Amino acid sequence: MAKKCIYCNKEIDEECVIDFCEKCGVAVWGKKMFDAIVKNMENAKNDDNLCNGMGNDYPLGKQKKEKSM
Ligand SMILES: [Zn+2]
Repeated sequence: MAKKCIYCNKEIDEECVIDFCEKCGVAVWGKKMFDAIVKNMENAKNDDNLCNGMGNDYPLGKQKKEKSM
């Protein structure tokens, strides 16, 4: 299932750590800030899987969901 940019509805990579496309991210935060955010999110993702990007109430930590298929 593809993720979509929360701003423009453009499809984005499901693996993407953020919920919006680069264009909108840069438009909202500016290039520098956007890069910082992405970097932060990627670091967090590497530490422990983030559930669906930012703005969620999931506590970071041991909340891994395993898909059984
Ligand atoms: Zn967008």
